Amino acid sequence: MKKIAILGSTGSIGTQTIDILRKHPDRFEASLLTAGSNVDLLIKQSRELRPSMAIIADDRQYDKLRENLEPLGIETASGAAALADAMDRDDFETVVTATVGYSGLMPTVRAILSGKDIALANKETLVVAGELITHMAEKNSNSQIIPVDSEHSAIYQCLQGEDRNQVERLIITASGGPFRNMTAEALEKVTVADALRHPNWQMGAKITIDSATMLNKAFEIIEARWLFGVPSDRIEAVVHPQSIVHSMVEFKDGAVKAQLGLPDMHLPISYALGERERIASPEHMSLQDYSRLEFMAPDMDKFPCLKLAKLALETGGTSACTINAAGEVANEAFREGMIRFTDIYRVIMDTLEKAPSVQQPGLDDYVAINSASRAIASQEVARINFNQL
Ligand code: NDP
Ligand code: MG
Repeated sequence: MKKIAILGSTGSIGTQTIDILRKHPDRFEASLLTAGSNVDLLIKQSRELRPSMAIIADDRQYDKLRENLEPLGIETASGAAALADAMDRDDFETVVTATVGYSGLMPTVRAILSGKDIALANKETLVVAGELITHMAEKNSNSQIIPVDSEHSAIYQCLQGEDRNQVERLIITASGGPFRNMTAEALEKVTVADALRHPNWQMGAKITIDSATMLNKAFEIIEARWLFGVPSDRIEAVVHPQSIVHSMVEFKDGAVKAQLGLPDMHLPISYALGERERIASPEHMSLQDYSRLEFMAPDMDKFPCLKLAKLALETGGTSACTINAAGEVANEAFREGMIRFTDIYRVIMDTLEKAPSVQQPGLDDYVAINSASRAIASQEVARINFNQL
């Protein structure tokens, strides 16, 4: 029986992780569930799964959580610090990091330090502090990071049994998002509803917008650089609108290995939970249903956010931390109707220009640069919003 903590159990990845636990009660047990503010769903999930503890990040929801769960003997807490502290508990061995954004960083650090395995969905943690996090996991031999992101799970699966020195290139596939065929002029006018309509994947709002700008793909290149130790000039993004080939690895002899499957996160989540053991599933695909699999180069001029991976990895230091922070602020501002879709890239670039930076940063530097970058990005959003009035 593997005991699991799910950070962000009420979200898209969190609820799909719970689906897997429900189907395999003989293998997996939830010991800790956490949410941002959706207290009702967290209570419902806790009543069903009976974890030993439930935590809500939003303090205002704490009384309701406690009143409902204490009578059941479930410990409760609230706030970001409690969430990070809970990583030291010894009643689980694997942490599924399914919170969104920078909020995943501290709990992931603490979980690695206390020797937990990480089923990593929260890619922002590796974008912000990939070098630090992967170093920490390497030093702590009890802790391994297994990717949940579908592209990285595909690469991880392709690398099993292979010598990593034989890798020539990583090829990360991208659906291209809802605006793949749109002109640059039309992109200026897209609405939030348009951007939230992803063609192949049902995901949380933040990553869906990041997929539409292709910032998500830039993040995935950074994520791959740290997970697999391959430099950015040997990681390529290719547009594959069908989302059937989840990613590929090219080896020195020219062989290319790929992992194919339906666009469904249950598979990468269960592969990570099972630590590479394949857990039987009724969902199987027929290749005849997909007679056309297309691959094409991404349009970097139309989707400039994609260029940010190379920029961040070549600049190093805290530049990716700043890009992530500005990206979070701009993503939210777009969803709230404060800025246009095409302003997201502007906010990130303007913030990068103005934000302080640190080379060879430690954890405290990431915390400080995240705050400073968010403040600058918020000013940029206010300025753009004012000029549009
Ligand atoms: P969702 O927005 O659906 O879920 C986010 C989860 O995090 C929710 O449980 C939410 O709680 C919680 N949360 C939000 N803010 C905070 C906070 N400040 N502190 C603690 N918890 C918080 O996101 P997704 O499930 O789509 O994505 C989660 C992560 O997985 C992201 O990093 C994303 O990039 C990555 N990912 C997602 C994929 C997908 O298919 N969805 C695919 C690959 C990667 P509440 O419900 O209360 O708001
Ligand atoms: Mg992905």
